[in-house]
Amino acid sequence: MKIIFATANKGKLREAGEILGNGWELVSPAEMGITEDIEETGETLKDNSLLKATCIHEKTGLDCFADDTGLEVDALGGAPGVHTARYAGEGHDFQANMDKLLAELGDSPSRTARFRSVVTLILGGEAFFFDGRLEGRIAFSKSGNGGFGYDPVFIPDELPSNDGGLVPNTDNLTLADIPEEDKNAISHRGKALRMMAAFLKEREK
Ligand code: IMP
Repeated sequence: MKIIFATANKGKLREAGEILGNGWELVSPAEMGITEDIEETGETLKDNSLLKATCIHEKTGLDCFADDTGLEVDALGGAPGVHTARYAGEGHDFQANMDKLLAELGDSPSRTARFRSVVTLILGGEAFFFDGRLEGRIAFSKSGNGGFGYDPVFIPDELPSNDGGLVPNTDNLTLADIPEEDKNAISHRGKALRMMAAFLKEREK
């Protein structure tokens, strides 16, 4: 069955394709002739992911899903949250966003944080929500060359182990220090997409 993932990000499309597996033909909005940017004007991650999914559904009438991700830092009252992508202002890059975050926290010992991805699935015209979280804390400085976004300053509480479970992150590795497949195994977006995949599988029965 055809389903649209409301994203222009090829990495996200690949990850979602791997998680959904066979049986779903995953297409991007561009492949359906939709190239305009959808403005993220919502006040929450859920608002924004619903807004993106609804927009694509209204244009195509097809089943679709969208995600919206934010970093919530407890000591900053949940900021940058819905403003994660533009924390240091419009036109600023990931480095500027991380620099602002490190400056805001200073040497505060209170650094717990989480990445949250909210996926909205529109199936048969009805909306369903999946909330994936990755708990951790903000490092005192950047570390690692992998990943993207805030990965060099985010230390997850746990890492994947060889037997498919989880182990405590005793070396304080950031998401940018670990291989991509390890990150995908624990990531907020991976969790939300796997919840959606399980839901779709259940509905097929
Ligand atoms: P988006 O909703 O996926 O576009 O994510 C919004 C912003 O959150 C991005 O611009 C990144 O700054 C940040 N972000 C999302 N996912 C990740 C991640 O896995 N690692 C680090 N930063 C992320």
